[in-house]
Amino acid sequence: MKVAIQNNDKEISVEVAEKLKELLQAAEIEIDPTNPDILITIGGDGTLLSGFHRYAHQLDTLRFIGVHTGRLGFYTDWREYELESLVESLKNDDGQYVAYPLLDVSVVYEGDRQENNFLALNESTIQKKGGTLVSDVFINEDHFERFRGDGICVSTPTGSTGYNKSVGGAVLHPSLEALQMAEIASINNRVFRTLSSPLVIAKDEEIVIKSSEAQELVLTLDHITTTETDVKEIHMKIAEESVRFARYRHMHFWNRVSDAFIGDRYQ
Ligand code: NAP
Ligand code: MN
Repeated sequence: MKVAIQNNDKEISVEVAEKLKELLQAAEIEIDPTNPDILITIGGDGTLLSGFHRYAHQLDTLRFIGVHTGRLGFYTDWREYELESLVESLKNDDGQYVAYPLLDVSVVYEGDRQENNFLALNESTIQKKGGTLVSDVFINEDHFERFRGDGICVSTPTGSTGYNKSVGGAVLHPSLEALQMAEIASINNRVFRTLSSPLVIAKDEEIVIKSSEAQELVLTLDHITTTETDVKEIHMKIAEESVRFARYRHMHFWNRVSDAFIGDRYQ
């Protein structure tokens, strides 16, 4: 068993990372940032997202664990004061995990430039720099609507509590293999019409966003933003890869949602 640690730069996260290293050494668990079996992130959901993108090329051999040093997160199960029990679980690890779907984004360009593939754990958004995005939305081969507005957000089930929720999307249970498309400020009047509600597509379907002429678009993949020029089409579907979390104990998803968004105001 080889473990890598990634922390954010908050003082408490740096301290927790130091303490975890000591505990791992005492337990004779090897620390290997290059080829780990498990990545432990220390910080928040954002820290786990950056760990995910850093190790995205080795998802088939890697499992993730999130320790949170702030509020309870959606990808972070462990508190900083539980490190001893976490190391104990690592010692008794028998490879148990839970897997969640990822979003596969492929960008097709005008001309002979080769298409580009990206992965997202939470979501990908498409926007137009300094203007209204005008794009045709297809579900599989079929034209669905012409979208006009600020942008489109396509999220995974675990990402549904992130940006998706802020733009009015539903919270999806992460055991569902589905993707959700939510609108970001669509223009709706007597001339322009979109569905105006989030929609959830099935496992084997894809969302395709096309423009009549190639355009420059701002694409986000979780916390990463890239500007893509000469874009003809963007395809979004559930990725073949999935993300795996080492699961030594279980917190019910809806309890977590209630904890994170409602709090304990009835107690
Ligand atoms: P950030 O700006 O620090 O994150 C915004 C907040 O979203 C943080 O509180 C973060 O938690 C939380 N978050 C991240 N993933 C989540 C998830 N799956 N469910 C619920 N909350 C989640 O940037 P970041 O930490 O690098 O995270 C990037 C993500 O932030 C994006 O993928 C997007 O989902 C989300 N975001 C949301 C908005 C919005 O709601 N208007 C705007 C931009 C980005 P931590 O504090 O634990 O890191
Ligand atoms: Mn953050």
